Amino acid sequence: MRYKLAVATSLSATLWLGACDRPPNSSLSPSQSAPPAMSPSQPSQSPGKKVILTTFTVLADMAQNVAGDKAIVESITKPGAEIHGYQVTPSDLERGQRANLILENGLNLERWATRFYNSLPQVPHITLSEGVRPVNISEDAYRDKPNPHAWMSPRNALIYVENVRKALGKADPVNAATYDANAATYSQKIRAIDKQLRQAISAIPPNKRYMVSCEGAFSYLTRDYGLQEVYIWPVNAEQQATPKQVEKVINTVKANQIPAVFCESTVSNEAQLQVAKETGAKFAGVFYVDSLSSPAGPTPTYLKLLEYNVNTLIRGLQDN
Ligand SMILES: [Zn+2]
Repeated sequence: MRYKLAVATSLSATLWLGACDRPPNSSLSPSQSAPPAMSPSQPSQSPGKKVILTTFTVLADMAQNVAGDKAIVESITKPGAEIHGYQVTPSDLERGQRANLILENGLNLERWATRFYNSLPQVPHITLSEGVRPVNISEDAYRDKPNPHAWMSPRNALIYVENVRKALGKADPVNAATYDANAATYSQKIRAIDKQLRQAISAIPPNKRYMVSCEGAFSYLTRDYGLQEVYIWPVNAEQQATPKQVEKVINTVKANQIPAVFCESTVSNEAQLQVAKETGAKFAGVFYVDSLSSPAGPTPTYLKLLEYNVNTLIRGLQDN
């Protein structure tokens, strides 16, 4: 069933990026076909295998691609969960007790995790954004703090994968060679996606290259791909837009005649629907940022998530 769905979603994804986005015979690659082992209910019962816990689903997929079948990878937060304001549960702590390693994003994303780590002093945690050149947030309570969404640019993802490779090799040296090989294969796929996205975006007329979202989650993607970023609030913490934030986006959309606006899968669309109503722009869909979809949804893997967002953007801008 999962294979069937994966094929269906890849067809829709190739609609906009062309059929050349995937080399032949790669349909069974880990990133395409094997949803990350992120179900909290899934027991970690493979004797001898290390248990790698990640803070959210995107990191679980990256880690799963590096781990292959040599380690158990689980995400603390479930698909669809809001990750900025997450609250650790007792069962998370139980899973933490079984973990050999925790992989986090860093850049102030997991502010909820400090207590978690304090309860698990024996489990090392590794920050995957280490080495990324941060983009700072320019307003509100987050002014001058790094934007946490570094994974949203494939260029940064290569840094994340290298950090996963090193962390897994250190935690489980017996399988280090496999992790090295898997990381190399996965990095190649990320480079291929990077190239496709770049080509797809280059087809958008330069004066239309606006990515209007609810959360300011695209600072790294827009920086690396020559897009303009417009958003209502900088970080999904409160998820309550102020009238001033909404007005600012309305003015920007009007001034630049931006045809399409978007929101994210993990938050309410309400404020952005208001922007659409007051500007005449079309509300053209949701982006996936802070979470993968369920395996049956449109973005079961990180690579699918990248494709889906750019396809959604291009379709929204072109339909007008
Ligand atoms: Zn976010």
